[in-house]
This record gives sequence, structure tokens and C-alpha cells, in this order.
Amino acid sequence: MSAVDKREKERLRALEAYEILDTPADKDFDDLTTLAAYICSTPISFISLLTDDRQWFKSKIGIDIAETPRSSSFCQYALLQEEMIVANDTLEDDRFQNNPFVTGPPHIRFYASSQLISSGGHKVGTLCVMDIVPKQLTEEQKEALKILARQAVTNLELRLKQKQLQVEKQQLRVANEKLDEFVHMVSHDLKEPIMNINSVADWLQEDIVAGDYSSISENLALIKERAAAMENLVQGLLQYAVVRVKDMPKEEVNVKSLVQGLLDENKAYPKMTAHLSPDLPVLTTERVLLQQVFANLISNAFKYHHTGTGNIWVDVEEADQQYTFCVKDDGPGIPPQHHAKIFDLFERLLRDSTKAQGSGIGLATVKKIVEDKGGRIWVKSALGEGSTFFFTWPK
Ligand code: ADP
Repeated sequence: MSAVDKREKERLRALEAYEILDTPADKDFDDLTTLAAYICSTPISFISLLTDDRQWFKSKIGIDIAETPRSSSFCQYALLQEEMIVANDTLEDDRFQNNPFVTGPPHIRFYASSQLISSGGHKVGTLCVMDIVPKQLTEEQKEALKILARQAVTNLELRLKQKQLQVEKQQLRVANEKLDEFVHMVSHDLKEPIMNINSVADWLQEDIVAGDYSSISENLALIKERAAAMENLVQGLLQYAVVRVKDMPKEEVNVKSLVQGLLDENKAYPKMTAHLSPDLPVLTTERVLLQQVFANLISNAFKYHHTGTGNIWVDVEEADQQYTFCVKDDGPGIPPQHHAKIFDLFERLLRDSTKAQGSGIGLATVKKIVEDKGGRIWVKSALGEGSTFFFTWPK
């Protein structure tokens, strides 16, 4: 691509970024064209934005059309020079004498324009004045046209900032709602084990008064068990709360070794057999996060297995932009009506066939990591058919 083409491409991108094309009329811009027409004493004034094939008028006075082809626009010439264009008599200017708006109605004879230059230095359009008789502008009028053109750019940029602020405000509102929900759920789920421990402590007091030592020991064991469950919950919550993809360093990760390491950690399930695909890649990514995703999926496959004697498969498919990993098991399976729910915070399914008691944070953390990373996660499963968790991981 030539330097000129590249510059033009960047110019078009700068224009698009304003998200202004084909928007309704706006008083902030109409005020500027009105003022330009007053100051230069012309019947026609407009703000023209130049795309690759047309000029579109954001504001116009004295003309009725919404746009013209770029090839018949006066303003195309403004892109080719730094200083403003003033054509005192279009019939004496090579660039304009054959223009259809000069040779035909409304028979333009005078044209002056000042470029709209974006903060990145791109000429995105012009502020123009026109007349049907030849004309001269004073230095003050020319200067005023330049000032109004700068004001038009300020309007464009303010308008964009305002739009961005609206989007951010909406994002903040959603984040706040999520936070409220989170606090509500956390306080409920943290209160429950504390209340449990409290009531066991009451029983202990009664045991001590009654001198019932076997019950004391049983109840102490219960307290320890519940405290451990609570520690688990707090640990999970902390992990869920702190994961942020953008803060993590990237490094080379051998996925096969990573998964093998995680399988080795699950020694409590000696009757489970793991099958790793030979295609598991070596990639450069945030190791801690990928590890957290696999750790949760693999430990779920183990701990929710209904017989404890089964298989787990870890596989991958590679595409141009991403990997799709899957962790499959031949466990009890998950009914389709629960597929969306299990990725929510604190959602766990009660089932008689498995004694595993989780906090319901694992898959919510996994989903948060995968989506933060720009990927997607989903499950394919039905009761009695095992479960396959898929997630994509952008390269
Ligand atoms: P936890 O952190 O408590 O393990 P998760 O959020 O990881 O909870 O999982 C939510 C629920 O999804 C679990 O309570 C379990 O019922 C179900 N589940 C997750 N993985 C599997 C699986 N491989 N097989 C069967 N059920 C599963």
C-alpha cells in the first residue's frame, strides 16, 4: 500500500471513529454554519464530511441535498492542501470551472472552506461557504472561518466523549448491579456455616455441662469439618474476586505437562484413568489462569464422578485464532436444564449419587477467566451420559 493510500485509510478510520455519518441534524453544528454564513455574508454554508466515495453534510444552510458523490465535491480538493481554499470566482479556477454545481444549478461562483482537522491530524471534512456571485473574503472573515472549523472539530470530539461516557456509565451500572448480587450471595453463603458452627458450639456447651465426652469429641470434629468447608469457601471467593486477565504475565506453557501435573494432584481418586491428547500444545499465555481453568474442570470430573471408577479425557482442536480445549468425563452427567445455571456463582446441583460438597464457585471462576480472556465456555451433557466441558482460548 502506498503512503498516500495508507494515510487515506487512516483518515477514513478517524472519520468513522467519530460515529457521526448519517446522524440527524444537530443544533451545535447548525449554529456554526449559521454563524459562518452571517460572517461571510453568503447564502450557502455547510459542514461536509468526506468518506471514500461521498461527501455527507452534517449541517447545511441554503442547500437541500443530504450528500453528493465525492468526485463532484468541491471539498475533495481541501484534502490535498494544508491552507484553506478560497476560490473568488469558480469560473476562473481549473478545479471548479467544470464542476456540475458550477456549470448547472445552483451555478456556484464563490467557494471558501477551512479543513476540519481531527486531534490525530486527519482532515475529515470542511466547513464551507458558497455564493452564486464572485466574492472576496477579508482576512478577518477567513480567520473566523478557521476558528469555526476548529469549533466544529471540538464539537465532534465532545460528542464522541459524551457517547463513550454513556457507555462507561452503563458498564458501571451493570458492574454495580453484579456487585450487589455478589455481596448478597456471599453474605448468605458465609453466614450459613458460621451459624452452623455457632449451633454446634451451643451443643458443646450442653455436652460439657452433662460431661458427655463422646459427644464432645463428635461435635468438635463437626466444628473442624465446618470450619474447613468455610475456609474452602473463603479461598474460592478470594480466587474468584482477584482474577484479572490483563494483570497476568504471559509465559510459555506446555499444556500437556500442566494437565499432567494437575492429574497428579488428584491422587485421592486412584481408580480414575486419564487420557491426554498428544495434540495438547505448547503456547504462550497466562499460565496461572489456564491452570486455574483446567484445575477446576479436572477436579470436578473427579469429585463428581458417581462411581469413582471412570475416565477423563483432555483434548484440543486448533484453529487460526484460538484453541478449543475440552475436558470430558464418563460421570453422572448434567441435565440440560442446569447447563446455564452451573456457571453461576454458588450454583451447585444436589444429587444423591455423589457425596461431593462444593461451594459452587469453581465454574463461575472458570467462566470469568475464560470470558475475560476473550473466550467462551459451554458444556455438552445429559444425565447418564457423562459431561464434556469445552472452552476456547484465544492465541
Ligand atoms: P464447585 O466449586 O462447588 O465444585 P462448580 O461451580 O465447579 O462448583 O460446579 C457447579 C455444579 O456443577 C456442581 O455442584 C456439580 O453439581 C456440577 N458439576 C460440575 N462439573 C461436573 C461434572 N464434571 N460432572 C457432573 N456434575 C458437574
